Amino acid sequence: MIATLSAPQTFDGRFSDARSAASREVRVRIDQGAVIIERGDGGKALHWPLARIDTAEPITASAGDVLIQEPARAGGTLFVMGPEFARELARLAPHLTARSRRWQGLRPFVYVALTLAAIAALVHITDFSPARSLARLLPHGTRVALGKEVIRSSTGGRAVCENPKGKDALAVLAKRLSDASGGKTAFRVTVADVDVINAFAAPGEQIVILRKLLETADSADEVAGVLAHEMGHGLELHPESGIVRAVGLIAITEFIFGGNGGTIGNIGLYLTQLGYSRQAEREADARAVGILKSAQISNRGIIDFFKRMSKMDGAPKDADATATGSALDMLRTHPSTAERLAMFAAQPAYPTTPALTSEQWRALKGICGQGASTPEKSEKSAPRAPVPQRDI
Ligand SMILES: [Zn+2]
Repeated sequence: MIATLSAPQTFDGRFSDARSAASREVRVRIDQGAVIIERGDGGKALHWPLARIDTAEPITASAGDVLIQEPARAGGTLFVMGPEFARELARLAPHLTARSRRWQGLRPFVYVALTLAAIAALVHITDFSPARSLARLLPHGTRVALGKEVIRSSTGGRAVCENPKGKDALAVLAKRLSDASGGKTAFRVTVADVDVINAFAAPGEQIVILRKLLETADSADEVAGVLAHEMGHGLELHPESGIVRAVGLIAITEFIFGGNGGTIGNIGLYLTQLGYSRQAEREADARAVGILKSAQISNRGIIDFFKRMSKMDGAPKDADATATGSALDMLRTHPSTAERLAMFAAQPAYPTTPALTSEQWRALKGICGQGASTPEKSEKSAPRAPVPQRDI
């Protein structure tokens, strides 16, 4: 999986270990994912895996020297003069660069990134593009970071609704469905104060409901149906696969390390352009059926919601409806409403209880209330964000 580097260049460096203040001349090279330090005293060469190397001074594009250490084996430091080694190290261990410090909180694994880059190269060479299999290789932390970026850029930085009672109710519903989803990771569900009827799944088991969807829904069962469908997308890794397909793994790897040259300037924009295939929508619906059943929530809610949406899509549009994606888009990317209604309606009956109590449902409806700006105001004052096309 790791490509062999042809005859790695060697550099002169100075190594000091913690035991003595003196430093000694050493020969240094970067080979097979490690900095290798030959001490020239007949002793064993030191291998410092790139992923574990740290530097007090991040490597800049114009760095003329580098001072690194390997914290796991306390004490040793290596100093290498000259820009060539700095450039080589920055290329192979991007976590040491000044640019990547912006993403320090994420700190994913260099080995994983190198492996991904090698896979991406293979994919590029062989023109082989199983986006979902590749998406599965992304570490969880990376998927979460991507998801946050998608949410940030998709909601145009608009407020997350945080009325405490509303949040409690949402947490109850999210947990009930999450537990029923059979996924390894619980879904994180938030509501964004956006005046559009939509909800979407972002990478890393994250789901965003836009405020107007809550206002439009008639019952907690309807919202539960929508959430179950979005969880379906999440379980099938549709958001991750969409990004892999759109920008490629190399760009994602660059994104992880903050070293991208604008390849993923605004990753949310990619998602807004994607939409899912009919096949993906069917998969999400099939998952939704199972989730609702395990959660013992009636699928009547999602049927009612689809019916209302199809009526609205047939009606003349106002400015907001345009932002939700046109009826034509829905036709192109979604199975027909009739087909979906029939699929849900054909499910055998099972025992159900309401998704939320009526008190919880009222609280969820008010999650953006109490101090949040009114819809009219926020619509006028907020910049128009590129909201993903309707994904329900
Ligand atoms: Zn969908």
